[in-house]
Amino acid sequence: MPEPLSPAALRELDRAHVWHPYGPMPGRQEPLVVESASGVRLRLAEPAHGHEELVDGMSSWWSAVHGYNHPVLNEAARGQLDRMSHVMFGGLTHEPAVRLAARLVEITPEPLRHVFLADSGSVSVEVAVKMCLQYWRSAGRPAKKRLLTWRGGYHGDTWQPMSVCDPEGGMHELWSGALPRQVFADEPPAGYGSEPDPAYAAHLRELIGRHADELAAVIVEPVVQGAGGMRFHSPGYLRVLREACDAYGVLLVFDEIATGFGRTGKLFAAGHAGVCPDVMCVGKALTGGYLTMAATLCTSEVADGISRGEVPVLAHGPTFMGNPLAASVACASIDLLLGQDWQQEVKRIEAGLAEGLAAARELPGVRDVRVLGAIGVVQLDHEVDMAAATSAAVREGVWLRPFRDLVYTMPPYVTGDDDVARICRAVCAAAREG
Ligand SMILES: *Cc1c(COP(=O)(O)O)cnc(C)c1O
Repeated sequence: MPEPLSPAALRELDRAHVWHPYGPMPGRQEPLVVESASGVRLRLAEPAHGHEELVDGMSSWWSAVHGYNHPVLNEAARGQLDRMSHVMFGGLTHEPAVRLAARLVEITPEPLRHVFLADSGSVSVEVAVKMCLQYWRSAGRPAKKRLLTWRGGYHGDTWQPMSVCDPEGGMHELWSGALPRQVFADEPPAGYGSEPDPAYAAHLRELIGRHADELAAVIVEPVVQGAGGMRFHSPGYLRVLREACDAYGVLLVFDEIATGFGRTGKLFAAGHAGVCPDVMCVGKALTGGYLTMAATLCTSEVADGISRGEVPVLAHGPTFMGNPLAASVACASIDLLLGQDWQQEVKRIEAGLAEGLAAARELPGVRDVRVLGAIGVVQLDHEVDMAAATSAAVREGVWLRPFRDLVYTMPPYVTGDDDVARICRAVCAAAREG
């Protein structure tokens, strides 16, 4: 083993050489050095504001739903490591990938039957788009190659996903002239519990109808728009999309990468509306936050359509496709989730967040406070001062990563009531000082 680096040396090398998400080079902010993590706690290499450990309010970007260093997931990874950590997926197959695919088909809405295992969420969206475009090309309709989405979305950082992210004020505005030009509907009216607005529903129908000849698919995040603004909308709009897509001959893609595996209170957010898409992406919590893996599922109609075409294959095959380690952990993570009363845990966290974040409504500079499932959001009326907000949360012993005008949390489902309360205090402190 090489000599461990001191936290100071590590930070210096990090600053000089390592890109961080959405970061400049060299880095401007000092990242905290994490030494290990267990349960819902991140252990720091050196104390921050007197805390050696921070309660994780982020689940490492929605993924670590069971917390860190979980004995069941560790065992799955170790067991698989002793058999093989990877083998190519072209011409070969293996139990972890097959079990995972079968399990995903079993737990997702009924007509989704076929699974493409991708290595990240963004790639799974690329594959979903490729499936849809190829479906229409195979059907002799190559002009159907554009996508429609609503504003305020986020679908990843590679090229096609960027083209359907919110085109204004988001992270990808820089590329608006270079990206494929998609069709954008207005943002869905806010509010999970609000009645669907007939005028907005008509707007969706009209836009889909008007562009039907050039649309391959409609792609949206169901019920919760995540990194595009942490907004919730009525599940009723998903039914509107389903009906309009059927009426005008357009495929429907749900990006459940953030919402999947229970985060919104249903196993998949499509379940709030009882609507099934033609293509669905899952990722983030798929492996319980252990390893990078995502999946694109499609119906037999889509798969058969592609297979009837002049090029009857889906030409996509990442080197690490179906990675056995990730697939084993994903199977264990799904079993762990479904083997407990996860709905109860998410409800418990929802109640804790609603209670703990209520105080934020009274704070100056707060525009809105909203909670759905294990997601709590405080929206400010100004751009958050990220350094000040993060520091305020750390002072409370909590890790948060605010962005734009949002201070939010989506804690691991195993977060105890006291820790949920502590996270809420940190969100309020960050909202106050950010
Ligand atoms: C995070 C996210 C993605 C991208 O996933 P990566 O694994 O980061 O590539 C796509 N869509 C949604 C809804 C996401 O939240």
